[in-house]
Amino acid sequence: MLVQPHLFIPGPTNIPEAVRMAMNVPMEDMRSPEFPKFTLPIFEDLKKVFKMKDGRVFIFPSSGTGAWEATIENTLAVGDKVLMSRFGQFSLLWVDMAQRLGLDVVLCDEEWGTGVPLEKYADILAKDTAHEIKAVFATHNETATGVTSDVAGVRKALDDAKHPALLMVDGVSSVGSLDMRMGEWGVDCCVSGSQKGFMLPTGLGILAVSQKALDANKQKNNGMNRTFFSFEDMIKTNDLGYFPYTPATQLIRGLRASLDLIEMEGLENIFARHHRLAEGVRKAVDAWGLKLCAKEPKWHSDTVSAILVPEGIDAVDVIKTAYYRYNTSLGTGLTKVAGKVFRIGHLGALDEGMIGTALFNVEMALLDCGVKIKAGSGTGAAAEYFRSTATKSATSAEPAKKAA
Ligand SMILES: *Cc1c(COP(=O)(O)O)cnc(C)c1O
Repeated sequence: MLVQPHLFIPGPTNIPEAVRMAMNVPMEDMRSPEFPKFTLPIFEDLKKVFKMKDGRVFIFPSSGTGAWEATIENTLAVGDKVLMSRFGQFSLLWVDMAQRLGLDVVLCDEEWGTGVPLEKYADILAKDTAHEIKAVFATHNETATGVTSDVAGVRKALDDAKHPALLMVDGVSSVGSLDMRMGEWGVDCCVSGSQKGFMLPTGLGILAVSQKALDANKQKNNGMNRTFFSFEDMIKTNDLGYFPYTPATQLIRGLRASLDLIEMEGLENIFARHHRLAEGVRKAVDAWGLKLCAKEPKWHSDTVSAILVPEGIDAVDVIKTAYYRYNTSLGTGLTKVAGKVFRIGHLGALDEGMIGTALFNVEMALLDCGVKIKAGSGTGAAAEYFRSTATKSATSAEPAKKAA
């Protein structure tokens, strides 16, 4: 194909050239005496991305789902009571996993388009004076509906109830794109993966773990069985810069490059860029007269927008039209919202011009599918927003103009 397909799904995300090139290396010896010089700094740099105050980071050769499983198996025991909420396909799947692994889930079933129910959590935790609940789970960014939840609020609910439960957060589509303050928020396990904010191919489950969770792991030796995902096995070899089984060396080479890019841009600048790009998308959605799946602005996600199509239109047609006519991949509606939403992923290596491409192609696909919008309305609104709030290009600084 002459032109690269335009990828606007919420993961895997676009891979920066520097990351792609960093992975294009001859196969290397993962037991060489030099290998730890490469791996040990990566563990340290990852801690900065998660803003940890203590603990450590594990890198599993798995997807994010593996890090979900590692979280549960290493810190909890079969029959343990945990508090979870379900409001989209990803939070739903984590609940399903917890139940299948034998946890006793206290479940808050919430409307899709909303997020973690802070008041309900506070209420349940306050009533649990016997501290039967061993862990509280929160999906920071529900990728299926484009909803971001308030993790600091969950921390507050725990603190207000003086509740000692562990706090487990799914940060797969937030870490590296939205602010994640593990230390400040007292997050005990934060799950991530390589193919979203880290701008890599799928294949690494990245799991940040607090000291409190590591202590729970030590006390839980009679808890859940684990082998592949065992923290203990990882720690023994990771401390020396190695892994208990073959690491995905090329992906970790890419991770090195990705961490360098993150460091260069700066986390706060990255969060601001994501917010700006998301705002541009939201301006376009407004101008089209369409609605987001997220019910209220407080739930708006800066990494993915799930957009509802009008009654009588099938979102699958919009997605297929974008794909076949305009060389553009959009995120589909998953399960409960299938056919009702299409998603624009706006996380990772993106700038205003790329968002412009997404909106331009979506606009054409919507018109082709009979959605009554005006050509140029959404793209125009986004352009006005980007122009009026422009600071500097993400890639190059304009030379200062000479005084006349
Ligand atoms: C993508 C995603 C997952 C699943 O990660 P995989 O890497 O596909 O296993 C879990 N949770 C959220 C919020 C996600 O966006």
